[in-house]
Amino acid sequence: MVKQSIYGLTIDQLTEWLLEQGQKKYRAEQIWDWLYRKRVTNFSDMKNINKECLQLLEEHFTIQTLKQSVKQESADGTIKFLFEMQDGNLIETVLMSFPYGLSVCVTTQVGCNIGCSFCASGLLRKNRDLNSGEIVEQIMKVQQHLDEKGNDERVSHIVVMGIGEPFDNYHNLMSFLRVVNHPKGLAIGARHITVSTSGLAHKIRDFADENLQVNLALSLHAPNDELRTQIMKINKAFPIEKLMAALDYYLERNNRRVTIEYILLKDVNDHVEEAKQLAKLLQDKRHLTYVNLIPYNPVNEHIQYERSEHKDIMAFYDTLKKNGIQCGVRHEQGADIDAACGQLRSKQIKKNQARAI
Ligand code: SAH
Ligand code: SF4
Repeated sequence: MVKQSIYGLTIDQLTEWLLEQGQKKYRAEQIWDWLYRKRVTNFSDMKNINKECLQLLEEHFTIQTLKQSVKQESADGTIKFLFEMQDGNLIETVLMSFPYGLSVCVTTQVGCNIGCSFCASGLLRKNRDLNSGEIVEQIMKVQQHLDEKGNDERVSHIVVMGIGEPFDNYHNLMSFLRVVNHPKGLAIGARHITVSTSGLAHKIRDFADENLQVNLALSLHAPNDELRTQIMKINKAFPIEKLMAALDYYLERNNRRVTIEYILLKDVNDHVEEAKQLAKLLQDKRHLTYVNLIPYNPVNEHIQYERSEHKDIMAFYDTLKKNGIQCGVRHEQGADIDAACGQLRSKQIKKNQARAI
């Protein structure tokens, strides 16, 4: 029997399990203290937990399921981790250093079925969803890396922007958010967490109903259906009108600013005309949206796309600004270390395949 990762349980689920096992309720808080504050990696290190309870924990759960396979450090401090999961699948996690804190980008699926035409992650169809324990453990592994350095540094922000479509793994995503956000867990503030989606409109609505303070980012990348369908085939299922309606629903319920992600692809979606269309599309929600212009990270397998020229990026930015749209150009992190999502993983898989031949 493969044991379940204990990181996958919310505190309520752990409490319920302990009670079922005839254990005391308060043990849950003690166990969480060992897991998330003291960050032990063996149950036997949980000093104030009685033998019987420890034995039950050992029987049913594991703490460590991820094995670090590769770690790449960039000159700007960005660190990319490649982890091997228990079934041998590889996933990526990235630690980025910003003036406001340390941010971790987590993976939610092995591969991605959405298959956007510019993305390295979408090259490999989804093999499976990560369970919530595997998503939480990515943060724990990075935090343990920081603990080992001994500089008293904390992961302060999380972006769910690694491999996979988080809303296609909704249930595990929500458990993950509840664990990392809980004051007795890692206590990472909801306002410091951002979930990015390619636009599963019905899930945007579900997310709006969760009443969390977690930030939402929508990968729009084009201001009209023709262009969006060309670069993201998911647009056929969830065209722009449906997305905007879901966004309105979200904004009504949450009144929280949503980030609109827009990758700039040279001569594809980076003309002033598209900037004007985008400004028009967002006009009625301009106070509650922020457009993040993302310089494209070239992916070897997608040679049809190139990064936009600086002057075109600036013209796009200026057009949005002139039309009252809040926007910025994303600062690049880890440009020297396979920074685009899924790049390190696809490279490593190729290496492993070459070795196997
Ligand atoms: N599946 C989700 C979250 C993961 S992708 C989503 O699509 O939103 C996170 C972000 O990285 C998305 O905005 C995605 O469009 C962007 N991205 C993917 N490949 C990229 C590349 N090669 N260069 C720049 N950004 C990329
Ligand atoms: Fe999947 Fe996001 Fe990549 Fe699209 S951009 S293929 S949704 S990970």
